[in-house]
Amino acid sequence: MKLPPFEYACPTKLSEAVALLAAGNGDAKLIAGGQSLVPMLAFRLAAPALLVDLRKLPELRKIAVSADGVVLGSMARWCDILADARLRTAHPLLRAAVTHVAHYQIRNRGTIGGSIAHADPAAEMPGIVLTCEAEIATVGTAGERVIKAADFFVGPLMTLLEPDEIIVEIRLPAWPAQRRWGFQEFARRRGDFAMAAAAVWYDQDASGKARNAHVGAIGVGDRPQRLTAGEAVLNGRLIDEAAIAQAEAAASAAVDPQTDIHASADYRRALVGTMVERALKSARTGIGKN
Ligand SMILES: Cc1cc2nc3c(=O)[nH]c(=O)nc-3n(C[C@H](O)[C@H](O)[C@H](O)COP(=O)(O)OP(=O)(O)OC[C@H]3O[C@@H](n4cnc5c(N)ncnc54)[C@H](O)[C@@H]3O)c2cc1C
Repeated sequence: MKLPPFEYACPTKLSEAVALLAAGNGDAKLIAGGQSLVPMLAFRLAAPALLVDLRKLPELRKIAVSADGVVLGSMARWCDILADARLRTAHPLLRAAVTHVAHYQIRNRGTIGGSIAHADPAAEMPGIVLTCEAEIATVGTAGERVIKAADFFVGPLMTLLEPDEIIVEIRLPAWPAQRRWGFQEFARRRGDFAMAAAAVWYDQDASGKARNAHVGAIGVGDRPQRLTAGEAVLNGRLIDEAAIAQAEAAASAAVDPQTDIHASADYRRALVGTMVERALKSARTGIGKN
């Protein structure tokens, strides 16, 4: 299908990209990997007058690992994240989730910033940044700002981003080596969007009890969700069969999914509980996996 006509700009300075977006008066759009935007154009779900390409801004491609955590430039592609050996230990949950994102060809172009900005409720990365309490750093005509992931997603394909704002960095807090984690996703085929997915992590105190538990759900609402009822079940407990069963039930009870062509609401509600159960079982082994 042919795309609607648009003007194209490929700035070499971030300030130029901001100025172009602002001059577009809401009728200009950024293009990063194009893996969500181009289909939107083809289906006429978007028809901006101007596309502003971010590909000539190398400063947006960085991946930095330090004692403070992981900083991903918005133009870091899925394949860059998977190829960076440091992330296997610096952020194993992030890496595990990326292995579920789309297919090889799409991962060679798609970017983390594009995914966060697109805010598909069934996409893995919005759920990961929410569950990991990431910060999203942006720049626009009003200057720089840092938005907590918990505030960023406001509905399906909707975020707090202003029309002239560019995501610059995604900042993930440091990940202690001993942290327990698991990521589980159910999709019709590996690489498809999640029908339901769960990301869990917790730390352990000296007696082996969980603290700081985080449970996130993907694909079961209009945006990613933290399941605080499931977290409350886990904190202060040994993660045994009883705790896992209660967290599973709390997760299913906490979500309110819609019925769509892929699955009924009841099926998704049960599925997310099962994803939480499986994620906790893998976390418990200390070798979190997906
Ligand atoms: C067949 C197929 C299967 C897929 N499967 C999955 C999957 O399983 N899971 C998954 O998560 N994704 C999936 N995707 C989407 C893919 O991961 C995209 O790469 C991603 O959602 C968007 O990244 P992008 O760089 O391609 O962004 P683009 O398509 O270029 O842009 C997407 C949106 O983000 C905006 N944007 C881009 N960069 C920025 C920025 N820095 N600041 C502000 N706004 C910005 C754009 O203006 C646009 O509105 C799939 C895509 C396809 C085509």
